[in-house]
Order: sequence, then structure tokens, then C-alpha cells
Amino acid sequence: MRAIVLLLALWFSAQASAATSVAAVRVWPAPEYTRVTIETDRQVNYKVFSLDKPDRLVIDLYHTRLGAELEELPSKVTADDSFVSGARVGQFKPGVTRVVLELRQTVNAEHFIIKPIGAYGHRLVVDIFPAVPVDPILALLEASGAAAPAESTPPPQSVEPVPKEILVVAIDAGHGGEDPGAIGRRGTKEKDVTLAIARDLKALIDKQPNMRGVLIRDDDYFVKLSKRVEKARKVRADLFVSIHADAFIKPQARGSSVFALSERGATSAAARWLAVKENEADLIGGVNIDVEDITLKQVLLDLSQTATINESLKLARSVLAEIGQINKLHKPHVEQAGFAVLKAPDIPSILVETAFLTNPAEERKLRGRRYQRKVANAVMEGIKRYFADNPLLVRGELALN
Ligand SMILES: [Zn+2]
Repeated sequence: MRAIVLLLALWFSAQASAATSVAAVRVWPAPEYTRVTIETDRQVNYKVFSLDKPDRLVIDLYHTRLGAELEELPSKVTADDSFVSGARVGQFKPGVTRVVLELRQTVNAEHFIIKPIGAYGHRLVVDIFPAVPVDPILALLEASGAAAPAESTPPPQSVEPVPKEILVVAIDAGHGGEDPGAIGRRGTKEKDVTLAIARDLKALIDKQPNMRGVLIRDDDYFVKLSKRVEKARKVRADLFVSIHADAFIKPQARGSSVFALSERGATSAAARWLAVKENEADLIGGVNIDVEDITLKQVLLDLSQTATINESLKLARSVLAEIGQINKLHKPHVEQAGFAVLKAPDIPSILVETAFLTNPAEERKLRGRRYQRKVANAVMEGIKRYFADNPLLVRGELALN
């Protein structure tokens, strides 16, 4: 009997000391939502609920130590955050550590757990959206200064192809926020390189009298892959260009590549491997897999996909030819694989791997503004060449919807 009591006492004390520790806290403000990530050493038990007058969001963490990492949360809320104005943390009662987020407006919160992946441990993700969702078209157009699209597509007036007045190029800076992408030996993050090049490319495109660049993300935050495609379609983009930097286990691998979507299978094992790795962005960046939409699957059934891929290949060849002028090419031809971000059924889409971040010499180049501008310039020239060779028809000619 005494032994049992002793064992029980030991068991209870072991449970008491088995408190969850917070390893890191991150806050990612973005135009459409703010994400708060609490990374822990084990899966945390938690509850999220909201309070009003004033609007607050409460995150109760059970059996979680109130350590230095969590106490830093209030200092991580920035003045430019559209949704969160401040934060407090404290020991609410024994066994409950409470985080209170003060809100600028009434919000909808989505919360979910991500199991360890990549460099991350267990993550509790709380995404804070406005109660009235931001109109992505208006937000993108306001941010990019582009003209508003027509309310509806008028049917073509004649059978003659009509050149479109303003060509919209969606520029997708790969990765962002929780998802750093590849990381070079000197610590260069792919998400920073891609954003710098994307901004350069937008500036070049906007200088063209008949073109407008729209950034899919214009800061350091996570956008899931299907959302990137959706945004490009909402702004009625004529082209979609996704900017990335490559990585490989061997530091010798180098050179630039340009990819298009493949309908069936990849053109090489390396291309397949790369597509799998790039598609992992959603897992690392963090999506709620319980509610993950099926848009992409539906979209793939679209009959216009083959025509779009043919256009994508033309664009990819034009861009590859220009990039070949500024860097060694990893492969002398365009490759194809199942990249999720290239799956818009009606927008020619390419993915540019600008160079290898895992190659020390190329990492040095990718860090520098000179090479970043050169890449942007080469992509711009490739786009111009594509448009010159393939005068764009009224959108209704290509899209079947
Ligand atoms: Zn990437």
C-alpha cells in the first residue's frame, strides 16, 4: 500500500514537472491577416476565445511555463499591425498561462496545431482575419496602383484578335513569413532574396507603358500556394511569374532554371524532387490541413490547362534565354513538374529558380543588389520578348470560363 502511495506521488510530481515550454513566439502582420505563432517543445493544450468591449482574443495555454520567450510577445506586436494593437501575457491561474491580444477591430480567428517539420518544433498558429474580409482585388490594386478591372468580361465584339490594353503580370515572391525557403551557408534566406527580386521586377514592369506588375506578397508574411494562384486570377493577371532560389544537398550544384507546370509527371527526377520541395512551403509555412480547400484539384480539371501550359512553355523559353545571358544555366532547357503554384488553369505561369543558395558563390551573388537587379532585368526582357512574339488576345479567347 505504501509503495503504491509513493508511486502515485512520484507520478503526480512527474506530471507537474512535465510542463510545456515555449521555444519561440512570432507575430507576422500582413495586409489580409495577422498570424501569431507559439512554438513549443511538445504539443500544447490550449483554448482560444474572444471577448468584446474592447475586442480581445484570449489564448489560454494549459500547463505551460511563463518563460522569457512568451513574455517577449508584447514587444513583438508592431505599430503597423492592422489587426492587433497590443498583447499581454500572465499566469491567469495555476496551470493556465494566458495571452491576451488587444484588437483594432472585430476579428475572426482560426487556430490550429502544426506538428514538427523542418527546423520547427510543435506550433500553435492563430490567424486573425478581419470579421469583414478584405477584398483581395481592391487590396492588391490599391497596393499596386493598378487600374480596376472591368466588372465583367464583355464578349469579344469580333472574331479578330483584339490586343489587350494593359498587360497585368502577377509577381510571386516565393515563401515568406514562417516559411524561409532555402537558407544559404551565410544565413541568406530565400524569402528575402525572392522579395527583393520581385520588387525590382515590379518596378521594371510598371515602367512599361502597357504593363502593370502586381505583387502577390509585398512583405515578409506567409501566403499559401493556392491563395497565390487565386490572387493572380482575381486581378485577372495575364502572366504569373514565381521567383525562387534553388537548394541542393551538394554545394557544387549551381545555375539558374525555369520551370512550367507538367500535366503528367515531371521531365526529370530532379524537377520532380524540386516540385515536392517547393510544394512543402504550405506545410512549413503552416496551413490548417483540416480546412484546406480543394480549389486546386478542381482547377486542374479545367480544359484550358493544356493550352495554358503551351503558353507557359513559350514564356519559360523566352525567360530562360535571357537568364542564360547573366548566369550559367543549370539545365539548357525548360523543365516541367507539378508545382502547385503554377496551377492557374488560364494564366501562363512560370517558376524561376534564380540560382542556388546552397552554392557559396551563388549565395554571394543572390545576396547582392547587383545580381538581384540583373535577374529582374532578365525576366523583364523575357516577358517583353514573349509578348512581342505572342501578341496577347482578349482574355476570353484563352480562358474557357
Ligand atoms: Zn523556393
